[in-house]
Amino acid sequence: MRQKRLKSRHFGTAGADVMRVLKIECPECGSKAVIRKTNRKHRQIADIYCACADVECGHTFVMNLTFSHTLSPSAKTGDMMMQKWLNSLSPDQKQMAFDLLKPAAAAV
Ligand SMILES: [Zn+2]
Repeated sequence: MRQKRLKSRHFGTAGADVMRVLKIECPECGSKAVIRKTNRKHRQIADIYCACADVECGHTFVMNLTFSHTLSPSAKTGDMMMQKWLNSLSPDQKQMAFDLLKPAAAAV
């Protein structure tokens, strides 16, 4: 059930923009550069090894890719937090949460 929600969420976003890829310019001549290798140091930090596509330039260089900030929180981590929280509840607390959610569920 969770999978379905994630899927519809993914396909709900504007089609062409999702497929947009990272474009790299050579810092020496401004031509298009290609990524030769990605060295992921951390989930949020990577070194990107690039080569200028202009044969007359031939510049090879390393760019840093770092995570900046979240715009919309991950649905995965939100669901995981809720699962952990629900598992930590006693049966009485679970019943209480269920009773609290009842009116909201009936309204949908
Ligand atoms: Zn270049």
